[in-house]
Amino acid sequence: MFDRKRKKGILRKLKKGRVKKIFLQVPEGLKRGALDLTDFLEKNNIDVMLSAEPCFGACDLRDKEAKMLGCDLILHVGHSDFGLKTKVPVMYEEYEIPCDPIPLLEWHLKKLDYERISLVTTIQFVHCLENVRKFLESRGKRVYLASSGRLKEGQVLGCDYSSMIALEEKVDCFLFIGSGRFHPLGLQERVNKPVLFLDIEKKNLTNFFREKIRIETLKVMRVQKARDLQNFGIGISTKPGQINLKTAERVKEKLKSLGKNAYILVADQLTPEKLIGLKIEVLVNTACPRIREDFEQFGKVILNPEDVELL
Ligand code: SF4
Repeated sequence: MFDRKRKKGILRKLKKGRVKKIFLQVPEGLKRGALDLTDFLEKNNIDVMLSAEPCFGACDLRDKEAKMLGCDLILHVGHSDFGLKTKVPVMYEEYEIPCDPIPLLEWHLKKLDYERISLVTTIQFVHCLENVRKFLESRGKRVYLASSGRLKEGQVLGCDYSSMIALEEKVDCFLFIGSGRFHPLGLQERVNKPVLFLDIEKKNLTNFFREKIRIETLKVMRVQKARDLQNFGIGISTKPGQINLKTAERVKEKLKSLGKNAYILVADQLTPEKLIGLKIEVLVNTACPRIREDFEQFGKVILNPEDVELL
């Protein structure tokens, strides 16, 4: 996960803060290297409590557990600060994936037939954007790097595309550079300009604009189906960055006013097996907004709170 120099840098910061015991959170994709980092820190007299829970974002800081286990600090790897206040201090160690998208971009340049381009990526690839900007400007493009308070220039989260939405009028397209469809798809759902996805793993450049029609159709189908169903579960997550009690209560009131049965369901992470035995037909998810995309695993209609307004 981290080379020796980086591990030494982490150790230096921990020693400086007189930290003796940490709660270590590592995202799924980096878990393989978690034991190596644990070994290194423990050899240097830092006790490590390694969280075995899946961690998809810095919305999921485990400060209750860290406090309960007597940890001085949470070492959170792979995500940037989500802006949460915690009882135990947090040290964020971002993880940059080395990449040079320029040759790939040069290869696909003809397909990038837009003049004003907003660059978009995730925290792991933010470091590439400056070179991409210079390259595209040298080819006559006008390049925009949107920023919002808590995120870096060009960075998005799966639940936060606000800086891109604010920029939409000024650009002809969004160019997402990274890996995995999750983020570009989420962006395409929220904007009406094309999102082009430069996949640095598969080496493709794909225009996601057609996906928008599919996403909109699915949304209409979900709402139509939910209209005919009676038992609604309103999911609340206890993850500190996903808890949304007021929204859940508002949704419950709305559903009751529509004559539906509505029940608030509380879980750390909502998974299909947690709904077994409950006669829930529709899940309204107030936690991570992207859970809605897992509807096939749940085998149920999943709505986000804004969908309830369309019922
Ligand atoms: S709420 Fe969901 S999309 Fe947002 S950071 Fe957390 S896991 Fe990612």
